[in-house]
Amino acid sequence: MVKIVVDSMLGNLARWLRVLGYDTEYSRKMRDSDILEIAIREGRVIITRDRGLHRKAVKKNLKSVYVSPDLTDVVDMLTLVAKTLGLSIRFDKGSTRCPLCNTKLDIVPKARVASLVPPEVLNKYDTFWYCVKCRKAYWQGNHWKTINDTIDIVRSRLNANPPQESFN
Ligand SMILES: [Zn+2]
Repeated sequence: MVKIVVDSMLGNLARWLRVLGYDTEYSRKMRDSDILEIAIREGRVIITRDRGLHRKAVKKNLKSVYVSPDLTDVVDMLTLVAKTLGLSIRFDKGSTRCPLCNTKLDIVPKARVASLVPPEVLNKYDTFWYCVKCRKAYWQGNHWKTINDTIDIVRSRLNANPPQESFN
């Protein structure tokens, strides 16, 4: 599976890729040289808003995706990245990662997160994930519908056949 490093301007995209199960390095402190180094060392694809960094990466024969600054909607960004890298955009509960730190999440029994989660949430949901590094619990809360909708839109865009000719 593809491994990714995302530049400091694309934090939102990094969190999405982690939730979708992609091993994604991201830090607000990483400089261009750090990003290039980690891409080489760990075989990661670079995703960047910085045209200069993109050019440097291509020069070094690294795989890089340039996300132009006018592309701000996460649907557009995910569609571009998925198309360019051939990623599948779907949620797999067994491979999702912590959006904060990229650690692969464990599905855990309710008892394990009982002290971390409000009682009403514990009663309402059956599946909980736990990040051993952040010591944080996750569940498919109210925001989950938005996440699912976004995934659906990206998938339908990827499935749609792009028009071969313009009739305008
Ligand atoms: Zn974490």
